[in-house]
Amino acid sequence: MGKQQVPDQLRETLQSLKLDSMADNLDALCAQAAKEAWSYATFLAQLLAEEVATRDHRRLAVTTKMARFPFHKTLEQFDFAFQPSVEKRRIQELSSLRFVSGGSNVLFLGPPGVGKTPLAIGLGLKALQAGLSTYFVSVPDLMDWVSQDAQRGQLTKRMQQLCKPRVLILDEMGYLPLERPMATFLFQLIAKRYEKGAIIVSSNKSFSEWGELFTDQVLATALLDRLLHHSTIINIRGQSYRLKEKRQSGVFQPPPALEATAGEPS
Ligand code: ADP
Ligand code: MG
Repeated sequence: MGKQQVPDQLRETLQSLKLDSMADNLDALCAQAAKEAWSYATFLAQLLAEEVATRDHRRLAVTTKMARFPFHKTLEQFDFAFQPSVEKRRIQELSSLRFVSGGSNVLFLGPPGVGKTPLAIGLGLKALQAGLSTYFVSVPDLMDWVSQDAQRGQLTKRMQQLCKPRVLILDEMGYLPLERPMATFLFQLIAKRYEKGAIIVSSNKSFSEWGELFTDQVLATALLDRLLHHSTIINIRGQSYRLKEKRQSGVFQPPPALEATAGEPS
């Protein structure tokens, strides 16, 4: 057997085992191993590490796509200086993801444009990196899905889908009043995930307004009871990041009401 034949044969074997990254890196690592006089074990470890890294990378790309984030913004990209009511220390504590193992919840509350969605997505990205399945849906989208599913008799399937991920992000709770089937669905979803699956919620409404949102005070109270039992609440009081540049250039002068309260979708 010639000197080159062994790697050739090995490459084919690796390919037939679908170890493509090992096959691709074989030549380079063989050369490096010879040059640096690696032990057999070191060589094998290096070759396997390439395969594992490639697979992790691929898995993360797939799970990130499946999470359905509307955009990708990491916590490292968040401008904490602009939003001083968001304590960096608390977000760092959340990014340890301890809340996920206990099935605790995180609530981001505040007016439009203050960064609720990017904070939720940033935590979601951290969860995915840690190998925790994550799913993002806005409440208005979910409302459409639920009414369609109800007509097709597929609500159970939808409930199962939303109970599965370790982290569920419910964005934009509160911009639209919830019709009865949606209010009931959300109550059941939160009850089913209680102490099992973490939920991250963003809302422009204070809890006292949830009764009106759900058009049922009793249902809203029971839902909040479960949602808040194990939870971290981040109240964001600040200015809209979107309007920052416009305001700086003097183009936009927000009326005081827009700064203080939330009303329109962001
Ligand atoms: P909310 O969800 O609270 O309504 P948005 O996510 O819609 O806020 O914020 C509007 C835009 O501004 C988004 O593109 C978001 O990424 C960005 N943004 C908001 N706050 C910050 C911040 N503190 N640092 C960086 N980007 C921010
Ligand atoms: Mg938002």
